[in-house]
Amino acid sequence: MPPRRVVIPHSRPTVDEEDIGAVVAVLRSGHLAQGQAVAQFERDVAAYLGRRGGVATSSGTAALHLALLALGIGPGDEVVLPSYTCVALLHAVTYVGAAPVLAEVDPQAMTVCPDDVARRLTRRTRALIVPHMHGLAADLDPLLALGVPVVEDCAQAFGATYRGRPAGSFGVVAVCSFYATKVLTTGEGGMLVADDDRILARARDLRDYDGRDALCTRYNYKMTDFQAALGCSQLRRLPRFLARRRAIAATYSARLAHLPVGLPVVPQGRGHIFYRYVIRVEDSVRASRHLADRGVDAKPPVPRPLHHLTGQTGFPVTDAVARTALSLPIYPTLTDAEVEHVAAAVAEAVRVDRGVRWQRSLLVSSWR
Ligand SMILES: *Cc1c(COP(=O)(O)O)cnc(C)c1O
Repeated sequence: MPPRRVVIPHSRPTVDEEDIGAVVAVLRSGHLAQGQAVAQFERDVAAYLGRRGGVATSSGTAALHLALLALGIGPGDEVVLPSYTCVALLHAVTYVGAAPVLAEVDPQAMTVCPDDVARRLTRRTRALIVPHMHGLAADLDPLLALGVPVVEDCAQAFGATYRGRPAGSFGVVAVCSFYATKVLTTGEGGMLVADDDRILARARDLRDYDGRDALCTRYNYKMTDFQAALGCSQLRRLPRFLARRRAIAATYSARLAHLPVGLPVVPQGRGHIFYRYVIRVEDSVRASRHLADRGVDAKPPVPRPLHHLTGQTGFPVTDAVARTALSLPIYPTLTDAEVEHVAAAVAEAVRVDRGVRWQRSLLVSSWR
């Protein structure tokens, strides 16, 4: 049995001396608020994602809010989003006074289901928020074909690809989050990227209240220069971050292949960055307790789907995914020994408790 005292956290930021040096240089420069470093970070991220421009923000939620405002969405409009995602999306929709319309996800990929979205479109639908969950791009082609403006949410998928192109280069707008434990971090932070100059200009105008002649409701959603310096430094190391995440995922997949758990499925044509390594078990809460006993912090990646928060029912696929998905620790600073410890702990959990075991038949019966 693996030793019980080790505690392997579910997430950890990846910050090195190079990052610290970049932040300290800005702190010493005397210019702390939004300035040259923010402008540089916007250019770097937009270039990486192949977009015309970027608007850095204080958080991913703020970027989503500005994206909806820049698209002119407001009261009387409907915005479709999956129930299986981060609650920040729901907040952004309610900030602008629009009505959230929840949709189901694909049972395996756990990204929003295009067929279900199609069924939920009405004359009032003004946008579709598409989060690329766990580091895997959603199935963008059929979503884009619906003809509704797509806001891509890359908060979990910076560096992921779809048909060889970066996730975040497809929708009319895309947003990123640079929260502490995302793939890239600025502590807190976000960015909106787009190609349309009017969208970029509108988002820039609303981000900052200072120095304008005409009054409208504006926000203070700015990022600081020292955060942006951290972001630029992190972006330079992104290829190494992604390589390490993929290497850990490959080790997990090799170690867990013979166990009665479901492994991540990567559909053809998509590049997964493994922001999360999500396995499937019969009961993720029960499995997470076994892993906690063995010093591993694993958890359901979306503990409360949005329809639970809104008091809705009728999302059987989402309920099944929420019950069976379990996120194992994965981040660049996870050591090889820690990876082996996690894999051994999963093996032991399924051995000591049959109620943790996953079978394909369980998955199928739960959404047919
Ligand atoms: C983290 C996250 C957000 C919110 O980003 P913040 O920077 O925390 O506001 C939005 N969407 C998804 C999918 C996320 O994972």
